[in-house]
Amino acid sequence: MQNNFLRTTKNILFHLLLLCIIGSSQAYAQSKHTHEHGKGKLEITIDKNGAIGKLKMPLEALVGFERIPKSEAEQNAINTLNQKLLKPASLFIVNKEAECNPKMIENRIVRDANGKHADLDYQFDFNCSKPAVIKQMTIALFAEFKRIKEIKVESVGPSGQKSSTAKPQSNLISF
Ligand SMILES: [Zn+2]
Repeated sequence: MQNNFLRTTKNILFHLLLLCIIGSSQAYAQSKHTHEHGKGKLEITIDKNGAIGKLKMPLEALVGFERIPKSEAEQNAINTLNQKLLKPASLFIVNKEAECNPKMIENRIVRDANGKHADLDYQFDFNCSKPAVIKQMTIALFAEFKRIKEIKVESVGPSGQKSSTAKPQSNLISF
């Protein structure tokens, strides 16, 4: 009788321990992955030479998947994306009075540990002849990638710090 009781208690403790392990590993997985599909972040810094942009975007919004490409079609989608990213001038358009000459600085895909989710980390540099008249930027990225729903924009420049949310229907940011 006592033996039975001990066995049952041990069983219960064992299951409680299992629950704790499963619970904490789930919390860990969730805290590691925070991106929301279709929603990106853009940081813009305006200085005396022009503007630098840093975009972070879930890869799903750009090519429709986030795993390491498995088929030729998926590899082609990544290649096409890379081609487009080489030309930041067609994705982010600064008002033309500033006479900017944009180029890509970085294009990197960052995957999570289990390979399920991935972000594009993209940096571009606008070298401008008249940086003092940088006033606005049109995010033409929305027209190129229809899955993007919104981009949270943080900008820092001579007129201070600004936050806004750009959407496909309202893709013009003012600084
Ligand atoms: Zn994802």
